[in-house]
Amino acid sequence: MNEPKTRQEPAKSDSAQRRCGFVALIGPPNAGKSTLINALVGFKVAAISHKVQTTRALLRAIAIAEKAQLIFVDTPGIFTAERRLDRAMVACAWAAANETDIIGVVLDARRGTDDAGPLFEQLSAHRPAKILIINKIDLMEKPRLLRLAKAATERADFAATFMISALNGDGVADVRSWLAKNVPAGPWLYPEDQITDAPLRQLAAEITREKVYLYLHDELPYRSTVETDEWKRQKDGSVRIAQTIYVERESQRKIVLGKHGRMIKTIGASARPEIAAAVDAPVHLFLFVKVRENWTDDAERYDAMGLAFPKD
Ligand code: GDP
Ligand code: MG
Repeated sequence: MNEPKTRQEPAKSDSAQRRCGFVALIGPPNAGKSTLINALVGFKVAAISHKVQTTRALLRAIAIAEKAQLIFVDTPGIFTAERRLDRAMVACAWAAANETDIIGVVLDARRGTDDAGPLFEQLSAHRPAKILIINKIDLMEKPRLLRLAKAATERADFAATFMISALNGDGVADVRSWLAKNVPAGPWLYPEDQITDAPLRQLAAEITREKVYLYLHDELPYRSTVETDEWKRQKDGSVRIAQTIYVERESQRKIVLGKHGRMIKTIGASARPEIAAAVDAPVHLFLFVKVRENWTDDAERYDAMGLAFPKD
């Protein structure tokens, strides 16, 4: 007798269609590699374990684009290197590029292929697929860009060519989207909760600290510290941020609050737009003031600021 068919089709879940890959950006120094990585990932950076860091020394930042996780590797520039340290840097850049799935060759549109000789000489020896990214198009007219693209594509085999401005964002979304479709299919390497806004939280705290100083440095003859306690992206795209300003005494807490809370309102009103600009989203900022005696002797507070605690 025939058994009823019980075998289940594998669920066509989201994870089945996921992609994940490493992308290295290489190019002459100052071509705009680091600027482009920032533009590609926004402010998101991975909280990377030390173990991962030792094997992928140049690992930098992660972007989620469509169904893909893109792990960007920033590299030192490729140039004609004579001194030992320079040679080590160039070797390091190539080694990193070779371990990735896609190599993005970034050229400065103004310089063209002028200082990219050493790069093109070696490029074909490297296995990963390559794309050409001509950057700084905001500084150059179109006919010259087209000539440059032609000259570059004659010297290497590129799977795609992009003309972008990493600085103003022109064309960056196209690069991201192409990469998202062309990294290998597979599960994500980093769980979503390992991708954090940590550096951004710190920046936001610094902005508020700067405002406290701006308005109160005459009245607060000590350092206050600010920590970002809550960071929540809302459904509407805005971010809810709660921060605490730590002071050492109750009398100082009153100064920061001001009469009827006016001072803290002023601080918040001037910090909020700057934080919103950094986050690139509307921000709801909530500020609290707490007394924490001797916080300047508390190692944990230094940690939160990203500082090493001087033991003595
Ligand atoms: P890297 O050495 O390749 O990492 O280059 P950087 O990302 O550090 O950029 C070098 C310089 O070029 C910086 O001053 C950037 O602000 C500038 N830059 C980067 N991208 C652009 C761009 O698209 N347009 C313009 N005008 N300047 C850019
Ligand atoms: Mg750089």
